[in-house]
Amino acid sequence: MDMNTIEELLPTADPAAWRPGDAWLAGGTVLFSYGSSTLRRLLDITEAGWEPVTITEDGIELAATCKVAELYALPDRPGLPGEWRALDLVRQCCDAFVASFKIWNASTVGGNICTALPAGPMISLCAALDGVATVLSPDGRTRQVPVAELVVGEARTTLAPGELLRSVHLPASALHARVAFRRLSLSNLGRSGVLLIGRVGDDGALVLTVTASTKRPVQLRFAAPGPDAGELRAALVAAIPFDLYHDDIHGLPVWRRDMTFRLAEEIRAELLESTITERA
Ligand SMILES: Cc1cc2nc3c(=O)[nH]c(=O)nc-3n(C[C@H](O)[C@H](O)[C@H](O)COP(=O)(O)OP(=O)(O)OC[C@H]3O[C@@H](n4cnc5c(N)ncnc54)[C@H](O)[C@@H]3O)c2cc1C
Repeated sequence: MDMNTIEELLPTADPAAWRPGDAWLAGGTVLFSYGSSTLRRLLDITEAGWEPVTITEDGIELAATCKVAELYALPDRPGLPGEWRALDLVRQCCDAFVASFKIWNASTVGGNICTALPAGPMISLCAALDGVATVLSPDGRTRQVPVAELVVGEARTTLAPGELLRSVHLPASALHARVAFRRLSLSNLGRSGVLLIGRVGDDGALVLTVTASTKRPVQLRFAAPGPDAGELRAALVAAIPFDLYHDDIHGLPVWRRDMTFRLAEEIRAELLESTITERA
């Protein structure tokens, strides 16, 4: 879509350069498809030179400018700790995009999170793995915020004007966990209507992250040995009021709620009942 109010394209990732009428430009797949009649400048962060993926023993640092295609290649990297079982989620979440070649190779982790669509698969991945975002402010300050709290509603984040998402840290403790992934869509290649991820760490605690069916990520944490089916359902009912279920062409709220219950129970059974079998 034409953006004929744009007067300048500025290559910078310096929040101090930001002024009203500016937008950070990453892959551009939202900016150029939705268009705008108010923006004056695009601040292009793609030439910032940020390493897309940095691996340390503490975990993985994803630059906001890491492209979906680059993230998809991550599990093939030599030298990754074999016990980071949760890396299985990387490709499952990238595939949840069901993206065209163009979007796959242009759109970024940061752009996906900041767009804050309920079906944002980078939100699902980063929230489920307790990802912590580093955010740079125009006044020079830096803050850290869990991705699960950065996205607060459909197309709504806690980013203040001019704030720039720099990176997301995925901690090794979460990468070490056993995980289960479930996704549903109304059509074969459709947008996610429900996307749930479960994680069980070495302490036996279960972390369940609900995305796509809800307007924002919802996370439930259960100490070991975890909930039974009834306790899980009661916890979901308590955590997700009906009006938090998303309502659009990709799924009615009633369907999203019922499938959330169903997939959550599948994840509970897969992760917790296999724990019991392993111990026996
Ligand atoms: C046909 C089509 C299908 C799509 N399907 C899906 C889908 O199923 N799920 C989904 O989630 N999205 C979908 N999208 C939307 C979009 O492609 C993705 O959300 C994509 O990941 C956005 O990333 P980007 O790098 O292209 O963002 P951009 O377009 O560059 O930016 C998007 C927004 O985020 C801001 N932004 C970007 N990076 C940062 C940063 N580091 N810090 C602060 N603000 C930033 C920009 O200013 C802009 O407001 C679809 C888009 C199209 C065109």
